[in-house]
Amino acid sequence: MRENTLYVVVPCYNEEEVLPETSRRLKDKLTALMGAGKISEKSRVLFVNDGSRDRTWELISQLHAQNPIFSGVDLTRNRGHQNALLAGLMTAKDRCDMAISMDADLQDDVDAVDGMVDKYLEGCDIVYGVRSSRKTDTFFKRFTAEGFYRVMNALGAETVFNHADYRLMSKRALEGLAQFKEVNLFLRGVVPMIGYRTDVVEYERGERFAGESKYPLKKMLAFAMEGITSLSTKPIRFITGLGFFIFLVSILMLIYSIVRWANGETVIGWASVICSVWAIGGLILLSLGVIGEYVGKIYLESKGRPRFLIREVLDHEG
Ligand code: UDP
Ligand code: MG
Repeated sequence: MRENTLYVVVPCYNEEEVLPETSRRLKDKLTALMGAGKISEKSRVLFVNDGSRDRTWELISQLHAQNPIFSGVDLTRNRGHQNALLAGLMTAKDRCDMAISMDADLQDDVDAVDGMVDKYLEGCDIVYGVRSSRKTDTFFKRFTAEGFYRVMNALGAETVFNHADYRLMSKRALEGLAQFKEVNLFLRGVVPMIGYRTDVVEYERGERFAGESKYPLKKMLAFAMEGITSLSTKPIRFITGLGFFIFLVSILMLIYSIVRWANGETVIGWASVICSVWAIGGLILLSLGVIGEYVGKIYLESKGRPRFLIREVLDHEG
């Protein structure tokens, strides 16, 4: 029988201002769920300290000493949100039946946890928390974030619109995730590749409870680049397309210059120079694109992603 042990994984980077409130709310939430018999008594809140420079780890240790419901993982140094999250999920994997990842700043509505657990109990393996609105975000953040999801999807990365990293994953989904060995891991793009039955829970995204965003514009751009280049080789295909297009233009230019030459409207040398410029440019781009295609293949191979994950096998033993 499943025990339904829930781990809530919370990456924390310099979050001393929000931790007391976050821990209080999560403790209340888990206690209520335990009382309702939905999750086991062994459920935990797992804080991952991502090399914070403030008192975050001290606070986590204190919480752990006060109440066994709190656990902690301390990374040796700051490795960024995605890696901290993965460290937490992989630690939780062997101890839980389901894990929910959540930001420390309470922007992810803690009450959505109920909906996620309910969907899990109904048989879902992955439940995405999706923001129903972005009222509290600044126009700039909303514009850049929504643009980001659009660009990602246009480039062929299957991301869930307006879903950050607030999601529930079952143990077997986490085991699937563990098979993605790539170093440039972009969770939001990789999780949909796992498959299984998935569902969505909507929530209002709140304001950061205290402290400031750990994602300044520079980090956000780097994150977007990481997402695109780690999931998609479409930019390479774009170069191939461009090379092909310019090569076509060179043929048009050839016809055009022959016509001008036949009418005696050209200076000597013009037609040959113009044609070679376009043709060589097009050929170079085209070759770059072809080489790029192979580089892209090598890139995908080097990630060693699982080619399939099995949900169930029907077979009589023996
Ligand atoms: N975070 C982290 N390591 C980092 C940056 C951020 O673990 O290097 C955590 C942070 O503590 C928070 C979550 O990632 O729990 C999301 O960060 P933040 O709220 O600053 O991002 P925003 O909501 O502004 O996009
Ligand atoms: Mg935040």
